[in-house]
Amino acid sequence: MSEIEKNETQISSNFIHNIIDKDLETGKYGDKVYTRFPPEPNGYLHIGHAKSICLNFSTAGKYNGKCNLRYDDTNPGKEDIEYVDSIEADVKWLGFNWTERLFASDYFEKMYQCAMELIKKGKAYVCELTAGEMKEYRGTLTEPGKDSPSRNRSIDENLKLFDEMRNGLHADGEMVLRAKIDMSSPNINLRDPILYRIAHQTHHNTGDDWCIYPMYDYAHPIEDAIEGITHSICTLEFADHRPLYDWVLSELEWPTPPQQIEFARLNLTNTIMSKRHLKGLVDNNQVEGWDDPRMPTIAGLRRRGYTPESIRDFCDRIGVSKANSMVDIALLEHCIREDLKAKVESRNVVENPVKVIITNYPEDKLEEMEIENNKEVPEMGTRMIPFSKELYVDGEDFQEFPQKKYFRLFPGNEVRLKGAYFIKCNEVIKNEDGSIKELLCTYDPETKSGSGFEARKVKGTIHWVEAKSAVEITIKAYGYLMIENEDGENIINPDSLKILKAYGEPSIKDAASGEKFQFFRHGYYIGDEILNTKDEKVFNKIVDLKSSWKK
Ligand code: ATP
Ligand code: MG
Repeated sequence: MSEIEKNETQISSNFIHNIIDKDLETGKYGDKVYTRFPPEPNGYLHIGHAKSICLNFSTAGKYNGKCNLRYDDTNPGKEDIEYVDSIEADVKWLGFNWTERLFASDYFEKMYQCAMELIKKGKAYVCELTAGEMKEYRGTLTEPGKDSPSRNRSIDENLKLFDEMRNGLHADGEMVLRAKIDMSSPNINLRDPILYRIAHQTHHNTGDDWCIYPMYDYAHPIEDAIEGITHSICTLEFADHRPLYDWVLSELEWPTPPQQIEFARLNLTNTIMSKRHLKGLVDNNQVEGWDDPRMPTIAGLRRRGYTPESIRDFCDRIGVSKANSMVDIALLEHCIREDLKAKVESRNVVENPVKVIITNYPEDKLEEMEIENNKEVPEMGTRMIPFSKELYVDGEDFQEFPQKKYFRLFPGNEVRLKGAYFIKCNEVIKNEDGSIKELLCTYDPETKSGSGFEARKVKGTIHWVEAKSAVEITIKAYGYLMIENEDGENIINPDSLKILKAYGEPSIKDAASGEKFQFFRHGYYIGDEILNTKDEKVFNKIVDLKSSWKK
């Protein structure tokens, strides 16, 4: 529970907590507050699930209750142990500890017994309508449905057929078990919904023990009830299913049944929030896997460089409400920037490097310059980086023909090299093809950083790396997964990955996988979990330094 407790203050009070406060007052569930996070292991978790995870675990933490991680694994065709494992890892990584880790499939026998009970009460029947017929019989929003010809089968016959279904005597789709509720209910979910279907499929947990599987609307309330869940939190689209949730537990005469409470799911701009669609991207090789740094999956965000703290902060800031809305992805970026700002050291890295020769600097001289590790946090100390006659500066920091108000390096202009000297560009040397070979500059020894030089000021400060000791690195910079085209349609961004070479100061060769930095003046970066090795340095760009998000 320690992690839950630690995170308790991170979630603001919300309408669900108001409901719980009332329940505690009336003693509806005594002093119990039990929640659960119930993913189906049919894909990797995404940032939308993080919202649900934070809500469920933090709510349990706030009330000193319990929260289970329960796999809602009633759909063997789509589920896999790979997903089971990834879900567990992601919940842990987010910083939450479950009370128990459980599988809905462990309750299959109990669910079967409950179904027999419903049959015996005349509340469920085996129906042989085909899928097409069933749709036709269901009616529409404006027209009532029609009773199935099987609806008045005797209890004995229903018990016999259901037993046959369980024992594999019937093929997929031949028959189903349905609840007997009301074919003319205005709520279509109550028009004799299916409780069990036949599926001759191997299940990741129960193997070939079963060839009938319960439907979500039937299984979920029973799962919650078995575990003693008090507040079963789910997303808004299940609001219309709540009467069925209540019906199942009421017909099974469950004492103090759990209550379902719905909240608005997270929608985020510039990405996709559905396991099915994300799986499509993976299966079609449109991304490099579930953990591709462009993916909104927890695994992708982790590889991209997001921290658990930043994701929890994001979930807290978006709050919990009853109204669906769209959150700007810039808020998520704001959260990681805020988190890293005071945590990571900076490094000098230049992209599109331009060579600088300081013509009046002694040939074999090598100085060590002291550079602060984090401008905002002096306690993070300083480091030494080498300086010599030959340097690289960033391609963005030089313009041969400067645009208006350009204060960085251009012929005739003087700038400050951060942590070193003022230099002035005197001449541009070109290659045969017209590209820039090097810039001939002079430095002023009087202007050394820290010397207190004040005789003249310059408007531009740029960063640099020493040429001979510079380490070549690869940077993977990402655009959004989804963008709008000219017609306002959401399409997959065809330009979401840029790979570029850059030069870093010498210490960059020691950067570990997963280690994060601010590349001075550029943004935040992380050593890639897999591609960054001792010999090859590969960094993912986490986020730009500047925000486009308006508070
Ligand atoms: P998807 O459509 O992406 O597959 P799902 O709802 O089918 O999502 P589940 O594994 O059933 O995925 O979800 C587990 C829990 O996470 C559920 O309680 C669900 O309501 C919640 N959840 C899923 N997506 C979101 C979201 N975008 N925002 C908030 N909660 C979500
Ligand atoms: Mg689902």
